[in-house]
Amino acid sequence: MQLSSRITDLLGGGSDGWGVFLKARRMIGDGVSVTELTIGEHDIRTAAPILQEMHRAAIAGHTGYAAVPGTDSLRDAVAARVRERTGVSTTRDNVLITPGGQAALFAAHVAACDPGDTALYIDPYYATYPGTIRGVSAVPQRVPARAEDAFQPRPETIAAVAAGAKSLLINSPNNPTGVVYSRATLEGIARVCIDHDLWLISDEVYDTQVWTGEHVSPRALPDMAHRTLVVGSMSKSHAMTGSRCGWIVGPVEAIEHLTNLATHTTYGVPGYIQDAALFALSQGPEFEAEIAAPFARRRQLARGILAGQNAVSLVPADGAMYLMLDIRSTGMTGEEFANALLDQHHIAVMPGESFGDAAAGHIRVAMTIEDGEFGNAVSTLCKFAEELAA
Ligand code: PMP
Repeated sequence: MQLSSRITDLLGGGSDGWGVFLKARRMIGDGVSVTELTIGEHDIRTAAPILQEMHRAAIAGHTGYAAVPGTDSLRDAVAARVRERTGVSTTRDNVLITPGGQAALFAAHVAACDPGDTALYIDPYYATYPGTIRGVSAVPQRVPARAEDAFQPRPETIAAVAAGAKSLLINSPNNPTGVVYSRATLEGIARVCIDHDLWLISDEVYDTQVWTGEHVSPRALPDMAHRTLVVGSMSKSHAMTGSRCGWIVGPVEAIEHLTNLATHTTYGVPGYIQDAALFALSQGPEFEAEIAAPFARRRQLARGILAGQNAVSLVPADGAMYLMLDIRSTGMTGEEFANALLDQHHIAVMPGESFGDAAAGHIRVAMTIEDGEFGNAVSTLCKFAEELAA
């Protein structure tokens, strides 16, 4: 039987960028000890009190169909959090609870784009972005940010391809680069969205992982709330990746239609998961800071190690659980370097190319292993790069 081209072409005919990751997994399967710096997931598990609340809610009977847009109490809690963090008037009617940020990204593009519409996204990008856009039968158009600009996108580069497009997807703090978009960058992006009548889909799943400066949500910029769909998630902020709980915050009318979409796709998020998410949010910013702390610490550790050498340079990274390293001095592509590092030192990192052409000659290092082992891996990586560059 013929499958739809929408699903068979989801990856756009290219690789999905996970080659090195899969090779590392095969090596581990063969009994090789590999240091894995590939995946964006905490080295801690969901905190026990959150799981106890999940258990309590399930035993208490919250196991039936839950309200499709989310429970009132969780939508209220997300709205309150957004109000506190951004100052923008937000109620439960602005919030749809989704099974994770990824489902929210897909739904947001369904809301913004008709089949055939152009949907813009910034390169380097989180690996699912182009496939998510193809999945809604829109046409992904990448907009490169440059290493020379520390991967802050230039509004004029976006404006140059914005005519006729329907949406722009951005992500700050950024995966893979760790870059936090400045207020000036976001104001420039907002200007382009207003001038070209674009929906702005703002992926803010790393909003609690900002090491220096501030997280600015573009929904809070003048004239932006009615054209912005914010994607949020419990995955990164509360170490709840497996619970699949996220949200979209947007205009009431969009949320109403997105609720119809949810009724016809996911049918909502399990009630006991939502109760656990509500409990987790009630732990407040101190708890979120605790979850983020290991990444801040490891970033400092890596900066110390990187300061002692010249072969590898760090993209000024102010957020998220990743470091983007420029390894162009080695003469290798990111992919060649990542493969050689895995083969020779059993350290797995992601090639920059997995996240788009703009990150060529770079590697992404996830700061998701214990400090001592992390420091050793960064030192080995630097020595390896120095030998290659010499
Ligand atoms: N956006 C970005 C930038 C991500 O890195 C991830 C997860 N790695 C997601 C969205 C999706 O996260 P989740 O579906 O777990 O909320």
